[in-house]
Amino acid sequence: MAASLLALSPEVGMISPRTRGRMVLRLRAEGIRDERVLDAMNRVPRHRFVAQALAGRAYEPVSLPIGYGQTISQPWMVARMMEAILEEREVPRRVLEIGTGSAYQTAVLAELGAEVFSIERIGPLQERATALLGRLGYRQVHLQHGDGSGGWPEKAPFDAMVITAAVPCALAPLYRQLCAGGSLVMPVEEGGRQHLQVSHWDGSTARVIALGSCHFVPLLAGTVSVASGECADDKRDWRRG
Ligand code: SAH
Repeated sequence: MAASLLALSPEVGMISPRTRGRMVLRLRAEGIRDERVLDAMNRVPRHRFVAQALAGRAYEPVSLPIGYGQTISQPWMVARMMEAILEEREVPRRVLEIGTGSAYQTAVLAELGAEVFSIERIGPLQERATALLGRLGYRQVHLQHGDGSGGWPEKAPFDAMVITAAVPCALAPLYRQLCAGGSLVMPVEEGGRQHLQVSHWDGSTARVIALGSCHFVPLLAGTVSVASGECADDKRDWRRG
């Protein structure tokens, strides 16, 4: 019995569609209403975006480590951020994501039908994201290694922006890279507490809506490469795929 279970474990993909379906049912029960978001999350194999040792936990309602001190956001938070930029509108055509991380949210955005531009400051995470999204067949994504706090002006304007790391203030220059009518969703850190907020930009002013408390890793300046040594801790995990 133990042997056959062990033999199954590399084929996590075979059991995941049902497990994924349960995750989607839970998201619905927890108040996620947008069917486009639920459908997209039902299609993305979330277990492929974490190390093999954590694949069995990929559909649980938790964030998980992805190496280099970073985390993959929990499913509900990903869904809530997607709903926030979709609210009462068409799927944004071009989306800027700052903080690729595991690239799970990048894939959800691509499944929604957006063309995604995503920046990650940690080189090995960015490399791994490029390889994984390529293997999974996502073509509408453009990944860049860099500090995304200034956005991606060469690719602007965007119909929406998603920042997946906590910012200390509203990052006003980013609004100038949004189309009029575009939305920016991000976690904001104030006085040691974080809250998620979405801003709807009309071309000159932003209407800000608070979406509740959250907990994200911080947005940091500069970039990290393997050569810097800062990444030495667990990079082997990410050579698997
Ligand atoms: N949505 C991602 C979240 C990853 S955590 C996921 O679910 O996997 C946030 C990511 O933002 C980390 O990978 C971190 O390295 C990255 N990050 C932090 N500051 C950044 C910056 N200034 N520019 C680009 N990426 C940044």
